[in-house]
Amino acid sequence: MKKQFIAGNWKMNLTLEEARGLARKLCDGLAGFDAVDVGVFPSFVYLKDVCDIFSDSNVFVGAQNMSMEQCGAFTGEVSGAMLRDIGCTHVIIGHSERRTIYQETNSMINSKLKASLLNNLNPILCVGERQEERDADKTREVVEDQLSGGLLNLTSEEVKGLTIAYEPVWAIGTGKTATPEQANEVHAFIRNTMRSKYDDDTAQSIRIQYGGSVNAGNAKELLGQPEIDGALVGGASLDPNSFLDIVSDAASFS
Ligand code: PEP
Repeated sequence: MKKQFIAGNWKMNLTLEEARGLARKLCDGLAGFDAVDVGVFPSFVYLKDVCDIFSDSNVFVGAQNMSMEQCGAFTGEVSGAMLRDIGCTHVIIGHSERRTIYQETNSMINSKLKASLLNNLNPILCVGERQEERDADKTREVVEDQLSGGLLNLTSEEVKGLTIAYEPVWAIGTGKTATPEQANEVHAFIRNTMRSKYDDDTAQSIRIQYGGSVNAGNAKELLGQPEIDGALVGGASLDPNSFLDIVSDAASFS
């Protein structure tokens, strides 16, 4: 079994003091713990403070988005080099909120993935279908398209060790979770797609997280599925006790 990877997406939440407080509680709660990989993804403006709090720990800190450009006249953007410079090791790319609210296309996501790799950041590539796409039985088609477009021209060397988060859009922030079987089925499809695009080794090296209303009450059942290698957690990651409970559920499957 792979080491599970639990990531907390704090989204556009918290004050600086709250972000620091949450980071300190997690840092204390996870001291010396390395059975599971854990990462937190605060807002850009809190990243440096949170990186400093976790600097002597095993916890990864990453951004929720980044620029596809390297540097220059791109007002309001944050580059991979800047993220690296302040201590980030990870970045979420192609979250459904970026795809739907900010019209990020597969081609933009592909450029961002390339920019993250160029800057030695570990991306979490998010994919997932909308409710109407699932209802129309198009889940596989949509996910396959997101993988093909997102990973265009990336070599097996580049995608080895990648994290992919399967996040059905209808389950994000809604309290509706995919059943463990529904999630596992799409994870297996993602793994097979990676196997046919690359090779078995590459497909096996990839961790596939499930995301969508994961909480301390449903995590264990989801994480116990054979194709689920972790979780990307939104709302429940803002509560240190819930997040730590999810991490400890994951530890039983690592
Ligand atoms: C997310 O933001 O990636 C997410 C899965 O959110 P939530 O857990 O709140 O559904």
